[in-house]
Amino acid sequence: MQLENSIAHQDAAALASPAPADTPCCAVIGGSVECAGYGFVASQGAIVGHNEMPPCPACNTVLFLANAKNQASAPAGAAGSDMTTEQIWLDALRVAHRENPGGVHAALEEVGEVHVRVSGPDRSTAVVRTYNAPYQLSETELDDAAVDAIALNMKVKMARNRAKGRAGWNEGDTCTADFLSKELREHVEKGDPLDVAIYAMMLNLRGEVISAADCSAHTSTE
Ligand SMILES: [Zn+2]
Repeated sequence: MQLENSIAHQDAAALASPAPADTPCCAVIGGSVECAGYGFVASQGAIVGHNEMPPCPACNTVLFLANAKNQASAPAGAAGSDMTTEQIWLDALRVAHRENPGGVHAALEEVGEVHVRVSGPDRSTAVVRTYNAPYQLSETELDDAAVDAIALNMKVKMARNRAKGRAGWNEGDTCTADFLSKELREHVEKGDPLDVAIYAMMLNLRGEVISAADCSAHTSTE
């Protein structure tokens, strides 16, 4: 087992696609921890028992999500559990999608309904929100396929834009949020939702919001 593990660690960086189910997973999770090769992740160099190691989201996705479900479903009133738990589930869902895009739907179906706590309308009480209910599963597949499809459309459109000389959307010093916001609003009027999606993507991934319509810092580049 030791030898197998050291080989798994060695090859971790080189492996680009998910490992087949019958070979050790070599996913590198979050940069500093990686799958130990048998379904659980460990900090590099750490030697701990399985019980203390979290499940690997790439090769042990069902258990990874089931753990998150348990944490997010912890009853209110226990120590430290008066907070909302929705973010626990959302963070796990993000990691599962990223690390096992081909297997996340089957894993979600197996894990089943998840009840999380969110702040109620009056902010003083928590209410329960249901994720991953059986009736939501077909909608989940439809939504995720749609997001993948528009990502593909955006890649092709952005390739065309690069060929036309566009570049630098991620350079905040020269390409401001105000400029991207103005472009977004202009493309709403032009009517192609794909262009609007591209500008919305740029602002979102830069962590910015759409500037007010009357923002004065606009200079046209067309
Ligand atoms: Zn793994």
